[in-house]
Amino acid sequence: MVKQTIQIFARVKPPVRKHQQGIYSIDEDEKLIPSLEIILPRDLADGFVNNKRESYKFKFQRIFDQDANQETIFENIAKPVAGSVLAGYNGTIFAYGQTGSGKTFTITGGAERYSDRGIIPRTLSYIFEQLQKDSSKMYTTHISYLEIYNECGYDLLDPRHEASSLDDLPKVTILEDPDQNIHLKNLTLHQATTEEEALNLLFLGDTNRMIAETPMNQASTRSHCIFTIHLSSKEPGSATVRHAKLHLVDLAGSERVAKTGVGGHLLTEAKYINLSLHYLEQVIIALSEKHRSHIPYRNSMMTSVLRDSLGGNCMTTMIATLSLEKRNLDESISTCRFAQRVALIKNEAVLNEEIDPRLVIKRLQKEIQELKDELAMVTGEQRTEALTEAELFQLEKLITSFLEDQDPESRLEVGADMRKVQHCFHHLKKLLNDKKILGNNTVFSESKDQDCQEPLKEEEYRKLRDILKQRDNEINILVNMLKKEKKKAQEALHLAGMDRHEFRHSQSPPFPLGNPEEGQRMQLSSAPSQAQDFSILGKRSSLLHKKTGMREEMSLGCQEAFEIFKRDHADSVTIDDNKQILKQRFSEAKALGESINEARSKIGHLKEEITQRHIQQVALGISENMAVPLMPDQQEEKLRSQLEEEKRRYKTMFTRLKALKVEIEHLQLLMDKAKVKLQKEFEVWWAEEATNLQVNSPAVNSLDHTKPLLQTSDSQHERSQLLSNKSSGGWEVQGQGTGRFDVCDVNARKILPSPCPSPHSQKQSSTSTPLEDRFGKQLNFQDISSHALCQQE
Ligand code: ADP
Ligand code: MG
Repeated sequence: MVKQTIQIFARVKPPVRKHQQGIYSIDEDEKLIPSLEIILPRDLADGFVNNKRESYKFKFQRIFDQDANQETIFENIAKPVAGSVLAGYNGTIFAYGQTGSGKTFTITGGAERYSDRGIIPRTLSYIFEQLQKDSSKMYTTHISYLEIYNECGYDLLDPRHEASSLDDLPKVTILEDPDQNIHLKNLTLHQATTEEEALNLLFLGDTNRMIAETPMNQASTRSHCIFTIHLSSKEPGSATVRHAKLHLVDLAGSERVAKTGVGGHLLTEAKYINLSLHYLEQVIIALSEKHRSHIPYRNSMMTSVLRDSLGGNCMTTMIATLSLEKRNLDESISTCRFAQRVALIKNEAVLNEEIDPRLVIKRLQKEIQELKDELAMVTGEQRTEALTEAELFQLEKLITSFLEDQDPESRLEVGADMRKVQHCFHHLKKLLNDKKILGNNTVFSESKDQDCQEPLKEEEYRKLRDILKQRDNEINILVNMLKKEKKKAQEALHLAGMDRHEFRHSQSPPFPLGNPEEGQRMQLSSAPSQAQDFSILGKRSSLLHKKTGMREEMSLGCQEAFEIFKRDHADSVTIDDNKQILKQRFSEAKALGESINEARSKIGHLKEEITQRHIQQVALGISENMAVPLMPDQQEEKLRSQLEEEKRRYKTMFTRLKALKVEIEHLQLLMDKAKVKLQKEFEVWWAEEATNLQVNSPAVNSLDHTKPLLQTSDSQHERSQLLSNKSSGGWEVQGQGTGRFDVCDVNARKILPSPCPSPHSQKQSSTSTPLEDRFGKQLNFQDISSHALCQQE
């Protein structure tokens, strides 16, 4: 058992505007606990919640200032937690802070750069890397992704997410068993066997979350998201299974209702958020007070789900995200206060071990059988049914190993079943008789054994003498062989020079590096996973296709509008940038693949050359009656060092290629997400334009295509009306994408969106092209499938 208080860390987000001096300072004296001091400017201190203090000091395990990058955060905060999860303990990392303070950036990552990937993708990468290294256990990994919004739980990985509105999806509910363990009904667990599979699930969940979001309910800031990695491990042959869960939690913005200053629907949400975080706070207060018997976990869904993480069986870490700008100081102070209370909570993490019921059943069955046998013997009951084939086979195997066992103490354990005891005697008797019949053979075999020692040697000498006599003949034969080998070597060299390309594309298995057996093993173990990688890529693109598929059939006018919308959208820069980076990475991967293949064929040739030299030397030694030198000559040494160098080069390039592959996959997922977001925003904008046209004039109006997405309060209101008229929850437009776009006059570039958009019914537009094409061809890793990656480990 590991007793530990919840670890608290602070992370300060870089300010949007230039750094405002003097607002905070970090004291990280090595001997002291690091502390963060927030200094209130005089003007603010006067009005700050009945309190005129001018500076506040808070202690944290560590404080990460603005320049701390994602790698540092992962190494210092998440890696130790992931390590204990691998050891079998539960772990939780949650980010707490006001909206915009960097919770999502910290937990999931930035939407633009690969280097901005957050704790979740890095942890997945780390965990899968460790699992691959540890062959002493069998591991299984599952992923779940839960969103809690307005006290309702939604499964972000539910495949129905993309087709239904949130309200139609089955809610995730909490069930409690008699042992007070929490179970989540309707939350699916998805097995992930590789990092890529897990990463795909993360992006799928994030995209689902984005699709469900409407401008009216910015769910991402008002909902809690819990990404959970479920890890089970078992040693081969053992009945004990270890289960560990790692929750990575992105909480809703912690800002207070008063500050959000909104009415109606939004207020309800804000209230819920605060209610939910309020209950979290209550649980934390209760836990930090000694001798409190009742902890109000049940008050909210989130505290129920995180029950183990708070004051229970879990190693928990909190990251307080802070946006230390003047206008955010009060929120930052309450975030820090919350963290101080959290730091008082003690958790007791235990290994979650469980006996595998199947193995227990097997053991119990065996025990029952033994007891039955014993009982039968004691009561003298005769068992008449014959032993089965399998039982007989098992017995004979036992007898053989008993006879072979040199240990005089060894016993023949057949249990208390008289039939088995009798069969053993019977079998032994048979063996003994067989030996007697072959009585002569005993002598014979004994002498044969001796033959192996002495007389055989005699014979060998004779043979060798004969061989010596035939030496001349053999020399002739070997000289001929040498000639042939020389010719072969020349041919091989000639071939190598002639066409490396052909060699590269040949279907022959790659040369195993180093130990040939090892090479073979590597190949065997990696082959299926490579195949799977590509199938995952396929799955991912089909997922995206499904998502965009409902929008892909657009009218020509709508497409044009979309082109302009896309061009002027801020995200298009990111998409283009990422496309560029992706192209670069892709060509780097391609070049690397080629170099790898070259290195591989070079290795093959060098090996061949060394072998040839050996043969030549042996032949030469025989022909000139010289002993073959034991040490390799200079030329061979040179070849060997070249070979080693080439192998090193190969391994370096291969490691880089593997890393590139993960980066390419991540960038593609980022782009996919950005594309879905762009389309979603376009649909909202289009619907809004449609409403405006309907309201303003029944006639065809010319549109300002380049209108930015920023909404005026009027248009927002109108859209809100449209959305709420359309569906009770207001999710329909985004979730279903029920847009319909009509072209009135393409030539005049006047576009009239119909008031009831529905891309589903856009089959009439024969000229429409899939949206995907308009983003440019999607790069696919499969394109380099003819290169090293799919042939090699
Ligand atoms: P939250 O989830 O707390 O509402 P986000 O993670 O969405 O906040 O962050 C808001 C914005 O600030 C995003 O554009 C994000 O990329 C950026 N951001 C947050 N933290 C950092 C950081 N440490 N470095 C750079 N940009 C950051
Ligand atoms: Mg967020």
